[in-house]
Amino acid sequence: MVSGPDGNAGPLTTGALKALIRTIPDFPAKGIQFRDITTLIADGPGLAASIDHMAERAPAGIAAVAGIEARGFIFGTALAIKLDVGFIPVRKAGKLPVETIGADYALEYGEARIEIDPTLVSDGERVLLVDDLIATGGTALAAAQLLRRAGATCDQALFVIDLPDLGGAARLRDNGISAQALMEFQGD
Ligand code: AMP
Repeated sequence: MVSGPDGNAGPLTTGALKALIRTIPDFPAKGIQFRDITTLIADGPGLAASIDHMAERAPAGIAAVAGIEARGFIFGTALAIKLDVGFIPVRKAGKLPVETIGADYALEYGEARIEIDPTLVSDGERVLLVDDLIATGGTALAAAQLLRRAGATCDQALFVIDLPDLGGAARLRDNGISAQALMEFQGD
């Protein structure tokens, strides 16, 4: 489904954005309900409204947006442009061509590693962390810890989707990071 131009009705509501998310059962593994944002970003008004709603929730005074590869790049870059700040990519292991700092973290199945170029962060600057979805919070927490190691203040994170039953937002809160999302899906 593709939404039409919204006329003078203003940006789509977050409820309307939720209807643009496609759910794929049993992907990538049995029992996982994959919340697919590609149907949201393929929708012009949906994509624009997602960024508008994220910008409304962004705290004042941030110096940069950091997005987590790969879907965090889509929302994070657009949000950085809207907020008129720079973008810091949090990359999968082995992608950056310079000296990096990295963090290993647990996934539902196995382990992963993310890396950043610490020279992109100035000491004490406030960096807003962005990803498409927070589940257990392992990925976002590892990214926030990396940004902090590089000298950033990282106490705010923004997501399109929260899966509250998996406890990620609470886990971030326990680590001094306030997490906001445009929508929630119950269950996992
Ligand atoms: P987590 O580290 O458990 O919070 O997982 C978050 C990361 O995994 C994000 O980068 C998401 O894109 C991806 N992810 C985890 N669970 C799902 C899901 N049910 N649907 C879509 N993406 C997911």
